[in-house]
Amino acid sequence: MTDRYSRQVRFTPIGAAGQERLSKATAVVVGCGALGTVILDQLARAGVGTIRCIDRDFVEPSNLQRQSLYDEADAAACRPKAEAAAARLRAVNGAITIEPVVAEVGSRTVERLVAGATVVLDGTDNFRTRHLLNEACQRARIPWIYGACVGSYGLSLTIIPGHGPCLACLQDQLPGPGETPTCDTAGIIAPAVHQVAAWQVAEALKVLVGAPPCQDLRSADLWAGTHRRVAVAGWRDPACLVCGPTPQFPLLSSADDPAVILCGRDAVQISRFADLDPVALAARLGHAVLMANPWLVRWRDGAATLTAFADGRVLVQGVADPAAARTLVDRWLG
Ligand SMILES: [Zn+2]
Repeated sequence: MTDRYSRQVRFTPIGAAGQERLSKATAVVVGCGALGTVILDQLARAGVGTIRCIDRDFVEPSNLQRQSLYDEADAAACRPKAEAAAARLRAVNGAITIEPVVAEVGSRTVERLVAGATVVLDGTDNFRTRHLLNEACQRARIPWIYGACVGSYGLSLTIIPGHGPCLACLQDQLPGPGETPTCDTAGIIAPAVHQVAAWQVAEALKVLVGAPPCQDLRSADLWAGTHRRVAVAGWRDPACLVCGPTPQFPLLSSADDPAVILCGRDAVQISRFADLDPVALAARLGHAVLMANPWLVRWRDGAATLTAFADGRVLVQGVADPAAARTLVDRWLG
């Protein structure tokens, strides 16, 4: 054990005491895509005692270019990302606890998903989920580390409840939903992912060992070779609805939209809010089934492919219209 972490313990700011703190910490990584997989690998190797990895999706061939915990067998088997990541992480470090969760992070679920975390790391790809995390972490007083990247560009910010601004305070300084290109529209290169993940994991280690975090907004373009650092610690909004004196937590108190269009994927996700048994459903669907495993069942209807998850969500691919997606889901699941 001592030998395993010897190089990290020799790093004075961590030391033996820091390593002990890491072993007792719980890190929650939300999203097991490009950022999430790189973050998870480093946290597991660093010896963070409990790691919860959360993702709603399954592995696809187009993920393999940058999502570093997965391989071709995971994509062929449509393994849920959280489960595939957990299997890999357990092989990397069998002495720590990995908690995979295949679920949507929504207003109904987010507080349960981050409960017990010492730190939360953002591996998501959309601003609604980040603002949900922001509200849940502010309410539970959990530090969280924002990260985002697209193309060759990425940025990161450490958010500590009670110290400096929260994500809602900085809304005007950060790209909003739909304002920026996404990985689906503009693509992404792996070095940008690793740059942002490196910032996030370094910040997480500092939070976990009790070292002062960097609360600057950092960004870099790996292709242009530019870096930027903006001191935002004083930019807290005194009237903020999330971290101000009378917090409202507007997203936590709102309802989740049952139909979500997944931009760039030609897909709609329908949430049915009731668990289902994928194996039993596969038996009922008969010859339409393309594949089934304990976490999901996938079948075809004309040009559309439907994937039902155990937590009740159905992903409809090949359809861009929510009403059409709902019709398909109702036809099969009633
Ligand atoms: Zn705020």
